[in-house]
Amino acid sequence: MSDKDDAETMRGRLRSERVNSLFSEDELIEDYYDQPAANDSSCWNDYGLSTLQSSGTVSSRSSSMHSGSTEGLDAPTQLLPIIKAGWLDKNPPQGSYIYQKRWVKLDADYLRYFDSEKDTYSKRFIPVTSIARVASIGDQKFEVITNNRTFAFRAESDADRNEWMRTLQQMVDERKFKGLNRISLFQPPTGALDSVDKCGLLELRGFKNKLYVVVAGDKVFLYKNAEDYRQGIGITYIEMNVGNVKDVDRRGFDLTTPYRIFSFSADSDQEKDEWVEAMQQSIAEALSNSEVAEKIWSVEANRFCADCGSLNPDWASVNLCVVICKRCAGEHRGLGPSITKVRSLKMDRKVWTEELIELFCQVGNCVANQFWAANVPPSEAIHVASGSQERRRFLIAKYKEGKYRRYHPLFGNQEELNKALCATVTTSDLAETQSLVFCGAEVSCFSGDPDFPNPIALAEQAGQKLQMEFLLHNKNSEIPRVEAGSSEEKHYSVILPSVTHNGFLFKTPSMAKLVHERKSREEFSRRWCTLNDSIFSYYENDRNAVPNGEIKMEEIVCLVNNPPDTHGFESTFEVYIESERLYLFGLENPEAIRKWVKSIAKSFIHPRADELLSHDFERIGRLQYKGGLNLQRAKEGWFALTQSVLYAFLEDSDKEEAVHLKKLQELSVQGDSLVLVERRRTLYIQGERKLDFLGWVAAIQKAAGSSGDTLSEQQLTESDIPVIVDRCIDYITQCGLTSEGIYRKSGQNSKTTSLLEMLRKDARRVRLKEGEHQVDDVSNTLKRFFRDLGDGLFTKEFCQDWLKAAAIENEEEKIGQYRQLLSSLPVVNRATVKALINHLYRVQYFSEMNQMNTHNLAIVFGPTLFQTDGKDYKAGRVVEDLISRYVVIFSVDEQEMRKQQDEITAIIKMRIAGSSSGTQQAGDFICTVYLEEKKTEAEQHVKIPATMTAEELTFEILERRKIDTKEKEYWSCFEVNEREEAERPLHYSEKVLPILHGLGTDSYLVVKKQLSMENMLIYLASRVSDSKHGMMKFREERNLLGLGLSTGFHDRYFILNNSCLRLYKEVRSHRPEKEWPVKNLKVYLGIKKKLRPPSCWGFTVFYENEKHEKQQWYLCCDTQMELREWFASFLYVQNGGNVWPSESSKVRASRTQQDSRLGNISLIPLRGNENEMRNSVAAFAADPLTLLRNV
Ligand SMILES: [Zn+2]
Repeated sequence: MSDKDDAETMRGRLRSERVNSLFSEDELIEDYYDQPAANDSSCWNDYGLSTLQSSGTVSSRSSSMHSGSTEGLDAPTQLLPIIKAGWLDKNPPQGSYIYQKRWVKLDADYLRYFDSEKDTYSKRFIPVTSIARVASIGDQKFEVITNNRTFAFRAESDADRNEWMRTLQQMVDERKFKGLNRISLFQPPTGALDSVDKCGLLELRGFKNKLYVVVAGDKVFLYKNAEDYRQGIGITYIEMNVGNVKDVDRRGFDLTTPYRIFSFSADSDQEKDEWVEAMQQSIAEALSNSEVAEKIWSVEANRFCADCGSLNPDWASVNLCVVICKRCAGEHRGLGPSITKVRSLKMDRKVWTEELIELFCQVGNCVANQFWAANVPPSEAIHVASGSQERRRFLIAKYKEGKYRRYHPLFGNQEELNKALCATVTTSDLAETQSLVFCGAEVSCFSGDPDFPNPIALAEQAGQKLQMEFLLHNKNSEIPRVEAGSSEEKHYSVILPSVTHNGFLFKTPSMAKLVHERKSREEFSRRWCTLNDSIFSYYENDRNAVPNGEIKMEEIVCLVNNPPDTHGFESTFEVYIESERLYLFGLENPEAIRKWVKSIAKSFIHPRADELLSHDFERIGRLQYKGGLNLQRAKEGWFALTQSVLYAFLEDSDKEEAVHLKKLQELSVQGDSLVLVERRRTLYIQGERKLDFLGWVAAIQKAAGSSGDTLSEQQLTESDIPVIVDRCIDYITQCGLTSEGIYRKSGQNSKTTSLLEMLRKDARRVRLKEGEHQVDDVSNTLKRFFRDLGDGLFTKEFCQDWLKAAAIENEEEKIGQYRQLLSSLPVVNRATVKALINHLYRVQYFSEMNQMNTHNLAIVFGPTLFQTDGKDYKAGRVVEDLISRYVVIFSVDEQEMRKQQDEITAIIKMRIAGSSSGTQQAGDFICTVYLEEKKTEAEQHVKIPATMTAEELTFEILERRKIDTKEKEYWSCFEVNEREEAERPLHYSEKVLPILHGLGTDSYLVVKKQLSMENMLIYLASRVSDSKHGMMKFREERNLLGLGLSTGFHDRYFILNNSCLRLYKEVRSHRPEKEWPVKNLKVYLGIKKKLRPPSCWGFTVFYENEKHEKQQWYLCCDTQMELREWFASFLYVQNGGNVWPSESSKVRASRTQQDSRLGNISLIPLRGNENEMRNSVAAFAADPLTLLRNV
């Protein structure tokens, strides 16, 4: 003691010692000691805090509790095994050199020191997690260093000092190794508590200053102040299983334990009530918890950890039926829930049903270890002091690999194992069931009895509740396997970054379909959510240790950040998982939701694609896609949608690519693919799973569509011009430049209205075709579009400036002003003005033919573009200026001018030549098509736009080869399947691209004459009924379990009507044996010879149902005529009676033939390697005019 102490009175000395006993000596004691009132001091003086061993004056309840044996009392506080304990000298506070003797204990969670070894309540506890390191400071001394403080100790010898340091360091290293994530699994001792029930300042009698008190779970922690609490370094904690709370007066209450009475005083009576309630709940929790433990520990073997032998283990693996210590529990967790499901005896109250507790009493550590630990070599066994790595190695060998287990005699014989399990579960022999299950018997095997189809049902029937309990916990358990790396066979095995996040969220039940309707607040429930170790868990509340559910990060396929106020909460997000479920979460706090979304995205997005995270995405996830020239194999891509840009990380590229959805040339759903056609490539996003795919399709379609009535909200071309404007200008350029009174004549109002509506809805899909659309309707549509434009072409802001500029007299100044105004327009407006004026410049170029000179055009367009009534000519003057000074104002250089001249010349030539090709280029897929037969000389490489029909492809091939089609020659495109030795003529209106997309490696396209078409058309025209019936030979090829089952050809009676094909066993049968919707059939001519068809007049029919299950069968006719009639009937039904193009199409066809000069254009050679092909395709797509220049 210091000199100062010596000077103290006797009473003072007594006082300091007593206070010292519960208190830190880091500070001067007097600062904290509040001299107790005389009448209170008796209790204090007589029963000093830590030496309260005598019970004479403690309350009667305490003394009755105290009457048990010392061991019994010790048990509750000894729940954590003590790893090391002993006497050490602790350095004194404030520079004094007199060391104080302290009893120091180390367990897995804390380093604590006490006045004596008999004390229950420490003077100080330091969480192992807050210890940064341990250092030697000479003279048998060492320091325990935390982030903010250093505690120095002196051992009795160097050996003792070294032993302390080694043990401490080992614990610290292990905790660090496990990482922060693990801590939350255990009772959190530090300031990072996330299960605090109540905390705050309270007066504690005997202390001058208020203490910071924390009620958490089944303990009450005392800290000197809030700062200490945050640092985790406290005075002591009180295990509430021995506690009792009693109201004393208005603000005071006592917490009584057998060892001490803690007299607290709150600031108000309301505060006091809250504290009393919190502490009473804590006691209830502690008592109910130890109830389970007491029951399970009543079996001797369960009092020691099944793995390391530690005393009083309070954790368990509920499927393995073993009771384990906290340290082993941590390692069990690491094995994963498919091997061991770890629960706390004390905290996870819900899981402990009567049956489970009974199961633990009957099986438990004894029976479990007879099986699992039948052959443990002493060298591999672990014990109380084993390190973390040793434990893990042992537990993997024991439970994951089953290395030490007692093998069942039936091991390896699956059928016998299953049979034995079915028999055993009806008895009470749990040990046998355990042995069978963990030697490979299948818990869900078929028992052979449809009424009780599996062992669980059998056990239930036999009234074996414990068997049921055991089986239920092991329904999805993994059977031990020695093979290394078996876990790497997972579908998705990338190591994801470990992100930790937690907090409350509101959650709806998960769903199997998209959320279209608004979810009200009432549909959400508050859940405590954590994201840890790549698992998102949600709990009933923040005190529960067993989650209500979990989402593994690797299962997540899509994450959606909903627009504000989509549901009852301001911010919501959706999580889609592989097994087609959707989870919806919400919160009133956008910032918190943003953090959740970010954390989740970060933990499931492939590290390769993490650049996607930098976008403010609305939707992010992985999808299968096909693209490039190889459409055979689907690849995995990562996508993020942000407004109208789709960012993608594709498999064969290591950088992010951006698809501007408003600038797509095509966007369509074909089969189960979403097709995105860009200028230089086509991307097929595939619907591998339905739920998230539908979500993506809707979102992409929305993002790609027009979102409003201003220019920039429209679908755009590559050069930022609204598609709607581009389509109209292009059409007029192709078909209307020479049309008299173009833009002055108004078309039919109703047609204009409907065309504008169509274009506004989805301009990309509208293809303006000569013959279908009139020039004046289209020109009027364009004018109407500009007149109705939200902000006007020149914007409301600058509109008046443009009109003023027109009045400027000085020519140079005026042009300067126009250019200046032009540059201040938004990008899309600027590009559109230029495109439109360029167009009008061309129109006036033909004014001799169309009578529309610059002045006339300006009269029409001035009021349209400026949205005025046209009473004065101001607006017209602007337009007139822009057209007449087009080259100067828009800085059009000579080369661009020449290019335009060339283009116009080409168009005119085409017009003169009578071409009707007014269509646009789109898509970039190049396909090989053969003419008449498959041989190299007959090869044609054709660029297939997404909209190309079989008819268009046929003409294209014929044109290239300058083949004149004659009347009654039915040229068609066929899909040939070499493997099946069958072919199918495509219907003329069928889109080619999806067909190509679905072609297997043994299939190709060929253009040739359809020889039987004439006869088929005659038959169809002459028949009386729309349906067809008759006998055919039928052979089925069912694909069961990969085995082709077939029984040869048999006579069957068929009826084909407007909707379905029915098969009857015989003519008289009333009920069809089979029935197929005819729309789902694909009918090919021919049957492979290997099947020995009874005649050469047969079909191969493919059928695919909604579930994408495929069937294939064969039909054979006796004569060619019959075959034709059946085939014609199929075509008729499948195409709604429209088997061959109408007269007008024929005219078109013949007109195209005459235009053989154009058909002569040679395409860019497409031979060479893939890269060369790609380049030539790109060059071709970039400058389609090369095609026209050769004219
Ligand atoms: Zn253990």
